[in-house]
Amino acid sequence: MLNIARLNSAPEIFYSLQGEGSRCGTPAVFLRLAGCNLACKWCDTKHSWGNGLLCAEQDVAAHILEYNCASLVITGGEPLIQQGPLENLLSLLPECLHVEVETNGTLLPSPALAQRVNQWNVSPKLQHAGNPREKALVPEALAFFATLPRAWFKFVVQSEADWSLIAGLELPQERIILMPCATNRASLESARPAVVEMCLRHGVRLGDRLHLTLWDDKKGI
Ligand code: SF4
Repeated sequence: MLNIARLNSAPEIFYSLQGEGSRCGTPAVFLRLAGCNLACKWCDTKHSWGNGLLCAEQDVAAHILEYNCASLVITGGEPLIQQGPLENLLSLLPECLHVEVETNGTLLPSPALAQRVNQWNVSPKLQHAGNPREKALVPEALAFFATLPRAWFKFVVQSEADWSLIAGLELPQERIILMPCATNRASLESARPAVVEMCLRHGVRLGDRLHLTLWDDKKGI
């Protein structure tokens, strides 16, 4: 059974545009799993932390396929705390479905998941998220993701001071994306200029959070 985040009493599965990362703007079905092993101060999906709704993998697969969409984004919470049910789900979906997983990069994926998932959007959390460093930055897991050519690394940044920590992680520079720390349209607009400057200074991509620009802080879209 998959533990799926609950939004308005229903499992959080919806059709939208990927709002972040290298596939930003791509139409996709989103599946938000419940539970997280971190507790970031500025988390914009705190509703996913608690108990969600237990759903059979067959029902979730059928729901996803109803959208007739070529892309699936599995997010959370932290999806990798439910690896067994995730493997079951993916075995029920066609191979041609492009699967992205959003993860905080603290847990190693199983070999089956590492092979099936088309893209890993790894978002390690820096000091300002408020987690103990040893919980948020797990060198073994990050080193594994760095070996996967299909892994991208998205960092929420607040100031130039964040860069020295990011640089010290020794991740592939061409797959690093910096994102403003924002939970709504207004905070995105005020945080963006400093992050643009950081991207230009360090030669990395800007990740401009499209869903906030389009839909502000509305959930389930
Ligand atoms: S890792 Fe993601 S889902 Fe978990 S608390 Fe942090 S921002 Fe929220």
